[in-house]
Amino acid sequence: MLKKAKGPESWMHPATAALHAGFRSDPATKAVCVPIYQNTAYELDGDLSKIANIYNVKEDGYTYTRIINPTTRALERRFAAVDNASDSLAVSSGQAATFIALANLCSGRPGDNVVASPYLYGNTWNLLHNTFRRLGIEARTAENSGPEAFERQIDDRTICLFGECISNPILDPLPLRQLAEMGRRRGVPVVVDNTTTPLVCRPAKLGAHMATYSATKYVCGHGTTLGGIITDYASFPFQEHAERFPLFAGPDEAHGDILWHEAVRDIDDLGKSPALLKARMTWLRDVGACASPFNSFQLLQGLETLHLRMRQHCDNAQAVAEMLKDHPKVSKVTYPSLFTGRKKELADDLFDRNYGFGAMLMFEVSDAASGRILIENVDMLYHVSNVGDARTLITHPVSTTHTTVPREKRIAAGINDGTIRLCVGLEHVDDIMRDLERALSALG
Ligand code: PLP
Repeated sequence: MLKKAKGPESWMHPATAALHAGFRSDPATKAVCVPIYQNTAYELDGDLSKIANIYNVKEDGYTYTRIINPTTRALERRFAAVDNASDSLAVSSGQAATFIALANLCSGRPGDNVVASPYLYGNTWNLLHNTFRRLGIEARTAENSGPEAFERQIDDRTICLFGECISNPILDPLPLRQLAEMGRRRGVPVVVDNTTTPLVCRPAKLGAHMATYSATKYVCGHGTTLGGIITDYASFPFQEHAERFPLFAGPDEAHGDILWHEAVRDIDDLGKSPALLKARMTWLRDVGACASPFNSFQLLQGLETLHLRMRQHCDNAQAVAEMLKDHPKVSKVTYPSLFTGRKKELADDLFDRNYGFGAMLMFEVSDAASGRILIENVDMLYHVSNVGDARTLITHPVSTTHTTVPREKRIAAGINDGTIRLCVGLEHVDDIMRDLERALSALG
């Protein structure tokens, strides 16, 4: 196995964990940087009963990169330490993370359902409402993101409550602390998409049970690499809820009638999370949406400087939001630090003030034509529908991601004709503001 960091890791600040947790040096060469094990399979040498134990998850070890890989495993351990989680599982993309995290909680019997926030990233909405429905998993949409609206949709087959800490693109803050309390009372886990990063929002502190990440965004940070991560905060006793989670309580025939909560007791490295052990040994094994070792290496590089970059992303976004708020051509700015009332209370609870309020903001120009003129007149900013690049990205949803959504539906979801989404990057903030001001001056 790879050499782990010295000493206890739980005391580390996230910024330190991002550099030290989960890996010390390569046992063969003493290389300090996690090597890229661009490798599919591992020699099964030695005692055959020991090898059988690795396949039966009675001992730690490497078998095949679709299931486990040393570079990816170092990323998983390190990310879990940064997120204050018991363990994490890296997969090929953010979409794969959401798919595997939720599918892993299903029993496979008719009736499994997810109760989701109405404010979701578009392809998560598609995953839940089209793909899951076709697989027999029901997605129920809470009327709004209030805890009572979620609670009204729960029944004894609800496998989780799901939402985004701060939704993309309309920036609705999830009442995570209240949802987690209610989830605990009703025996339903809360799973959050925390793509905003484990530094800007700390789901474990707010009581969430699991989180999913599109690591493609800020963890990578440079627009080069797709990746997804699932973390388990080990705060939900799945095996105690046999009716809702029979595959966690009883034997799972998908892996030789294993009892997941007992299997983790026999192993060290993979023994921190029954839920993620199950996801790895069944869903990842069967679906094959594993992270490539090279992508895991890239994500490790991003993780090392995440705390510095997120602080700068948030500072730049705050300054841009304030500039736009006072601009005569802008009728409204949506940015969490500018919220008032209940939304501001939620944002204050969600965001870690050591960083700020995230890097995404929305603003309104008068109509669709003005939105198009604005996009045509930016010079330095990139017209790209991604999130979390080091460069500032701008989009006019009506001309891109939301062109096919009927107008009434889109407006009900908070996307108006003149809505602009901005993902503020790491350029000098004066240059970002200058480019926006010049493009705004082109509006009539
Ligand atoms: N979750 C959120 C909040 C996102 O913004 C995205 C992508 O934009 C995803 C999930 C999907 O991530 P990926 O593109 O890595 O599959």
